Amino acid sequence: MIGITSYGAYIPRLRLDRMAIFQAMGWFAPAIMMVAQGHRSMCNWDEDSITMAVAASRDSLCGTDKKKLDGLFLASTTLPFADRQNAGIVSAALNLKENILTSDFTSSQKAGTSALVAALEAVRGSGLKNILVTATDRRETKTAYFYEMWFGDGAASVAVGDKDVIAEFKGSYSVSYDFVDHYRGSSKKYDYVWEERWVRDEGYSKIIPEAINGLMKKLGITIDQVDKLVFPCFFKAEHSNIAKKLKASPDKVVSTMHETCGDTGAAHSLLMLVSALENAKPKDRILVAGFGQGCDALYFEVTENITKLARRNGVKGSDKNKKVIDNYMKWLKFRDIIQTEMGIRAEAPTQTAMTALWRKRKMLLGMVGGKCEKCGTAQFPKMDICVNPACGAVKSQIEYEFADVPAKIKTFTGDLLAVSVDPPHKYGMVQFEGGGRFMADFTDCDFEDLKVGLPVQLVFRKRVEDKERGFINYFWKAMPVPGAAEEMGKVRFDGRVAIITGAGAGLGRVYALELAKRGAKIVVNDLGGSRDGSGTGSSSAADRVVDEIKAAGGEAVANYDNVATPEGGERIVKTALDAFGKVDILINNAGILRDKSFLKMEPENWKAVMDVHLTGAYNVTRPAFKAMRDNGFGRIVMTTSAAGLYGNFGQTNYSAAKMALVGLMNTLKLEGKKYDIKVNTIAPLAASRLTEDVMPPEIFEKSKPEFVAPMVVYLCSEECRESGAIFNSGMGYYNRAAILTGPGIKLGDAGKPPTPEQISENWNSINSMEGAKETEDANSAIFELIAPPDTGKKDAGEQKGAGPDVKGIFGKMTEAFNASAAKDVDAVFQYVISGSGGGNWYVTVKDSKCTVTEGMAEKPTCTLKISDGDFVELITGKLNPMQAFTSGKLKIEGDIMKSQLIGKLFKLN
Ligand code: NAD
Repeated sequence: MIGITSYGAYIPRLRLDRMAIFQAMGWFAPAIMMVAQGHRSMCNWDEDSITMAVAASRDSLCGTDKKKLDGLFLASTTLPFADRQNAGIVSAALNLKENILTSDFTSSQKAGTSALVAALEAVRGSGLKNILVTATDRRETKTAYFYEMWFGDGAASVAVGDKDVIAEFKGSYSVSYDFVDHYRGSSKKYDYVWEERWVRDEGYSKIIPEAINGLMKKLGITIDQVDKLVFPCFFKAEHSNIAKKLKASPDKVVSTMHETCGDTGAAHSLLMLVSALENAKPKDRILVAGFGQGCDALYFEVTENITKLARRNGVKGSDKNKKVIDNYMKWLKFRDIIQTEMGIRAEAPTQTAMTALWRKRKMLLGMVGGKCEKCGTAQFPKMDICVNPACGAVKSQIEYEFADVPAKIKTFTGDLLAVSVDPPHKYGMVQFEGGGRFMADFTDCDFEDLKVGLPVQLVFRKRVEDKERGFINYFWKAMPVPGAAEEMGKVRFDGRVAIITGAGAGLGRVYALELAKRGAKIVVNDLGGSRDGSGTGSSSAADRVVDEIKAAGGEAVANYDNVATPEGGERIVKTALDAFGKVDILINNAGILRDKSFLKMEPENWKAVMDVHLTGAYNVTRPAFKAMRDNGFGRIVMTTSAAGLYGNFGQTNYSAAKMALVGLMNTLKLEGKKYDIKVNTIAPLAASRLTEDVMPPEIFEKSKPEFVAPMVVYLCSEECRESGAIFNSGMGYYNRAAILTGPGIKLGDAGKPPTPEQISENWNSINSMEGAKETEDANSAIFELIAPPDTGKKDAGEQKGAGPDVKGIFGKMTEAFNASAAKDVDAVFQYVISGSGGGNWYVTVKDSKCTVTEGMAEKPTCTLKISDGDFVELITGKLNPMQAFTSGKLKIEGDIMKSQLIGKLFKLN
């Protein structure tokens, strides 16, 4: 069987919005509005027919052994060299073998299909078994012209052969006429086009049906035996008319792609064929025709092999990566239609030495470097001495192709002084995976897109054009991998191995799916037991989740062990080590419930819950922690619960087990610190079988596990620097819970412990959480006991004897009243003094007199709220009133301005 064995396409990333053409030139040529839909593809300034052909060919060759190619046919009407074989440049760029037949097919829009027929017939009749046919075109048009709207740039590539055929070649039929609908004189840049009506009526609508009908007659088929009909025609209505004439229903007719890229000349029939193949299923029959001074028609039947093709960009991938621009001036500049001042730096010599190009052809055109056979170091360019200082071997390098090796940006710059058609000139160092570096120009990107670490791929582009001698110098450049910038900011787990216990359902399942989606390899542990942990369990829960992960393209293995036994824990970790070689992440999630009020909480229910939650976490964490320590990296997430953190009626067993996990975390965070093992705890709230009967139905509906997963996934990531923290998470609300310690008070001394009465008297200071803080570890807590921080709080009992008390101060208030300052003052000052020595008093100032009353005034002018100790300090001058107010120790409600009179009205100290 002979036929198509692979396909590929390349449409440039840039697309010019056709409305931009109309907006710029509609004043001159209003009729172009009729075809101003969508956008046309346009080459970047450094792209031409050769570079597009290389890109489409690489796409077609992906997943195949390119050394098996016996021939390369290049079809185009815009080849940069009239006498230097252009197919030879493409072959050198692809680094194909040297004993290969290369040939250019040109001078007609049907050159692509003619090259394809020639290749298929060569495979049928000669010793050439695998031929790559690539068609490409970048046609020039004058501005403000229909053809500027209709045309697009692009390339398509089809490999043909006699093995692994994806579309069997059934036959072809060609007609040839010297029908001059347009022509391009050999010294001219632009096409000369005859009247459209004539081109349509006498050309497209007669010649294409003639060839297609001729083929159907030759093969004895009818149009009913065609599932996809491919033929170009940029006159939209005429395209439909031709299909009608052939009696092909509209659903069979493959789109001309006017809206997405425009007509790509000699490449267009093959580009439409690639689009048809992308959407084809086995047994589909495709008829493709190419038009231009006659017509070629070919018929194919798709085989099962199409389902086995490696993933490629194709037309769909090119479209996904498109960037639509509306800058018509940029189009003119990139097309060299307008002349801009390029500065004297642009006058630097651009001549290429053919001797050097020949000697270094593999390096310059094929991006071939070297790899040391002794130490394996890769380097570009290939040299006589290995670049590895520890090796330094001489003449040890074998050829090593860099063009397809993944790379990342190591450094970059944007240079506004350097000559560039699309300033700033962007260049920098790229680092190849597996070794080797390369100083590259960056293309198909804006300066803002570049980032250190951004994945890039190499592309074959024009480097400089020697206009004086008509020579184009090609080289490899780096372009950001499409979509990589968006991926870069994402939390990823590529190469990481995660164990999730109880991942067969509920929260664990969602954690597993999300981590797998982000690149982690997963051990899905689940016993598959009942909600209360009774019964023997089943493997189906874990298996289902593993299937889900695999179906989404991830990697996972199942484990059915019980976390509640030490052997189970060991086996779960062993599953990860056996399958993936390491453990990076552990989420202790498995859980059961056995709720009972405390007196009914029999030992077996207590023990069952402790065994799964607390002992289960211990059983799995211990061997996992060892594996993480050996790796120098680990992320562990414990699962607590609001029941443990705050209490919940009927869950003494569960609360105790869940809070014990916080204790496990507190110490493990210390032991894991030096190995970059971070341990955190999640307190989730999510709809699952554990909560369906304890949650109100309306909350159950709103709380999907998917709202908890982002927090857990973050805690498992390299980006997470936190360790030893607890996070509540559910329904899209996330906050931190912590164990805090209040500032307290130092009572008694070493020789004399305080009395219970002192505890009572100082209860407010002991109990206060004002200024409470977290404590790093037990040692820090003990240190604070030995040397408590000076909180400024004094024993309330001692203060009574030693200085004025609150009551005493109010007793002396009338004595301290300064009547001379009270002229015209009419105010009631209410004091609310907190603490054991506090109480409520109000001071009335009226008619230059003052009265002090215990209790609350009916309508105070202002109310001052302060603690007993702070009040004493304020009155005795130890605490500045303004400081007391700004620090929050003193709170004033009501008329704040009046409160400022107090200092003048009373002289107490
Ligand atoms: P779930 O019942 O849907 O999932 C728990 C999974 O653990 C089940 O698939 C179960 O088969 C598995 N499992 C039970 N015992 C096991 C054992 N011994 N070995 C291995 N696997 C076992 O429950 P969920 O709501 O997803 O709960 C997950 C975790 O979150 C539990 O630790 C639970 O206590 C905790 N939690 C959940 C909520 C919530 O709102 N859902 C609230 C607080 C805490």
